[in-house]
Amino acid sequence: MKLIFLGPPGAGKGTLADLAVEKLKIPHISTGDLFRAAVKEGTALGVKVQGILASGGLVPDELTIALVRERLAAPDARSGWILDGFPRTIPQAEALESFAPADQVVNFEVADDVVVARLSTRRVCRACGKIYNIRSMPPKVAGLCDACGGEVYTRDDDQESAIRTRLETYRRQTEPLIAWYGARGRLVTIDGVGEPSLVLERFDAALAGAR
Ligand code: AMP
Repeated sequence: MKLIFLGPPGAGKGTLADLAVEKLKIPHISTGDLFRAAVKEGTALGVKVQGILASGGLVPDELTIALVRERLAAPDARSGWILDGFPRTIPQAEALESFAPADQVVNFEVADDVVVARLSTRRVCRACGKIYNIRSMPPKVAGLCDACGGEVYTRDDDQESAIRTRLETYRRQTEPLIAWYGARGRLVTIDGVGEPSLVLERFDAALAGAR
């Protein structure tokens, strides 16, 4: 199954993808995680995108499309994937359609005030990328990842000014994809507000209904 998770930053796409891949046995591919790994490793791509990520803007389509195309060609992506954070523009969606069309697009609906509240309390493991929230899903030991013991930190782009930029970018560049995929008959929308286990139930029901 080839799935796209669509929705604003902080909609819970990454958290839900981590839960869903355990059941579906397909990889969770997050372009944000791929870019952050490149920054951390100091690769040529990482050097190029570091400032863009910190500001909350979008990496140019050509770079992003090339990265995804290469990742989807890996052996573990043969039987399916969950794409989280891609596509984010119509040209990215058109490109994906040409080399790996998705079966279903899941749109997570979450209001702006919920997004801002979630992102300002979100924390992420620097080593493995596991997502926490200091209010609703804190690590067992403050500052340390439950899964790998890595440092749990606040992403640069989860600072308030970048959060606003990312939301504006989402509304302008990414939200049009809802109508784009809707017109192609592959969109299901679910309410993204609530405990992850509840959102997972809605996700399962939406997928069963879409089949
Ligand atoms: P995310 O982890 O999905 O919130 O992504 C973090 C950042 O990575 C975004 O704010 C963008 O700067 C960059 N990024 C991730 N995915 C894309 C994409 N599909 N197109 C352009 N930039 C992206």
